[in-house]
This record gives sequence, C-alpha cells and structure tokens, in this order.
Amino acid sequence: AKKKGKNQFLRYTKQLEQRRARNLLIERLLHTALEQKEIALYYQPIVDTSLKKTVGLEALVRWHHPDIGFISPSEFIPIAEENGLIVPIGEYVLRTACEHLSELQHSGFTDLYMSVNLSLKQLQHEHFLSFVQQLLHDIHVHPHNIELEITETIALSDDEHVIRTIQALKQLGFRIAIDDFGSGYSSIGYLKQFTIDTLKIDKSFIFDVINHDATARLTAAVITLGHSLGLQIVAEGVESTEHLSFLNKHRCDRVQGYLFSPPVPFGQLFPLLQQRVNV
Ligand code: C2E
Ligand code: CA
Ligand code: CA
Ligand code: CA
Repeated sequence: AKKKGKNQFLRYTKQLEQRRARNLLIERLLHTALEQKEIALYYQPIVDTSLKKTVGLEALVRWHHPDIGFISPSEFIPIAEENGLIVPIGEYVLRTACEHLSELQHSGFTDLYMSVNLSLKQLQHEHFLSFVQQLLHDIHVHPHNIELEITETIALSDDEHVIRTIQALKQLGFRIAIDDFGSGYSSIGYLKQFTIDTLKIDKSFIFDVINHDATARLTAAVITLGHSLGLQIVAEGVESTEHLSFLNKHRCDRVQGYLFSPPVPFGQLFPLLQQRVNV
C-alpha cells in the first residue's frame, strides 16, 4: 500500500509538472499569436424555434499554432485572463465579430444578431468603454444587434467599475446575456440588478434533461422563471432530437448546438443562414 501511494504521488507530481510546462508554453506562444494571425473566429448558429431559422451567431475564438495545432479556448482563455492578453484578444474578437456582422447585414441578413463572450478582465479595463465607442464609430452596426455574454460570476461582481460599465453598455443599446446559467451560483438575485435580455442555460443541464428527472424539472422551471421576467431563453449544447423536443415542449425560445451546426468559419455561414431549420 505504501508503494502504491508513492507511485500515485509520483504520477501526480509528473502530471502537475507537465501541466505547468504546457501552461508556460501556451503563455509564451500566446504573446505573438495575434500578430502572427493565428487567432480567428468561428461562428455557431443560434436557431429560433418559432421562426425555424438562424437568428443569431455566437462568436467563438479559435487559435491554431503552426507547430502545436489547435489550442482550445477553454485552455488559453484562462491564461490570457491571467496575463492580461485577454484585453487585446477580446478587442480583436469584438472588432472582427462586428465587421463580419456588418458584412452579413449588407448581404441582406438585416435582423441577424451577433453574440460575443466577454471576460471580467475586459470589463475591468479602464479603456473598454472608449474602445467600444470607437468601434461603433468605425463600424456601422447597431448595438441592438449585438449581444454581450457575461457569466454569473461577472453578474455577481460587486466591483463598482464593472457594474457601471455594464450599465453603460446597456445604455448604448447592447443586449446582455447571462452565459452558462445555472452552472455556478445558487444566487439568482442578480437577475434583477441589470436589465438582462437573455438567459443561456448551461449545456450541462441540457445534457441531463433526458435521463435525469430533477434536471428536467429544474430546466423547465428556469424557462418559466426567465419568461416571467421577460427574458429570452437560449439552450446551449443541444445535441439530439430528444433534447430539442424537450425544449420545444417547454417553449424554449432559441437553441444552439451540434444538432444544428458546430461553430464554423465565416466563409461557411451563408448556406446555414439561408436554410430553413427543422425545429
Ligand atoms: P461557452 O461560451 O459556453 O461556449 C460554448 C461552447 O460549447 C463552445 O466551446 C462551443 O463550441 C461548445 N458547443 C457548442 N455546441 C455544443 C454541443 O452541442 N455540445 C457540446 N459538447 N459543446 C458544444 P468552445 O468554442 O471550445 O469555447 C469554450 C469556452 O471558451 C466558451 O464557452 C467560452 O467560455 C470561452 N470562449 C470562447 N471564445 C471566447 C471569446 O471570444 N472570449 C472569451 N472571453 N471567452 C471565449
Ligand atoms: Ca458563451
Ligand atoms: Ca455557455
Ligand atoms: Ca462556459
């Protein structure tokens, strides 16, 4: 037993070392990723269940390094948040997403909206609002067509600057979505704090609605709660027709997931936007 314990300890130490080495590598490579044009955006359709078509797109950042390949945002975003690179990366994301939205609107998709993920670090940055204002000046997109996704952690922040920034974004006309709803906090009091437009139910709930009765009832209750507050409900991680029929039965407004499309490069969006979706 003693030997087994020691082996386990060694394995654990080794894993820790590998993790640390990988993080250091990513940290280092990330510094040149933007200028080397290794960072791009993919877009995932958000489908309206009544209109039966794609009404929105979520912008999701992708990093492809020539030597080590694709690195998941779940891996590099936390590192970028730590070393501050999330600020220039986030600016690139918002600007590119707005440019692409503007292009799509000029092609006739005038009602389409773009959903963009924000990090706490971006909202804490003192120049974020002036960056956004400059952006609206440079690119002619209406903020009503842009949804900013913030997590529950951000919504619960007691940082005065962050709260004021979100209120100012709201005032400018941006829509605010709560991302990963239900995944983190048990407090929902913040729902009345800002004027939120959308709730995105975390995919961990959607995965379980079929085989876990309590999750199914909780999800149904979240949809009812959201509707009673006048919010639009988006379900993410919709992978199967079983997920979809559950969400339809409970009148979920919009759905997003592999059942409809994975995130795709900008160039592949056109056919997806034109087709009628079976929902
Ligand atoms: P998220 O905001 O919750 O984004 C949804 C994630 O679920 C995406 O992962 C998407 O590709 C994935 N997904 C979509 N449909 C399905 C499905 O049917 N099944 C499953 N299993 N997954 C699905 P992705 O692109 O790897 O992004 C991971 C996370 O990284 C995002 O989670 C978000 O928190 C963060 N992230 C991505 N892009 C950005 C960005 O531009 N800025 C910031 N701050 N964070 C970002
Ligand atoms: Ca999101
Ligand atoms: Ca999410
Ligand atoms: Ca997430």
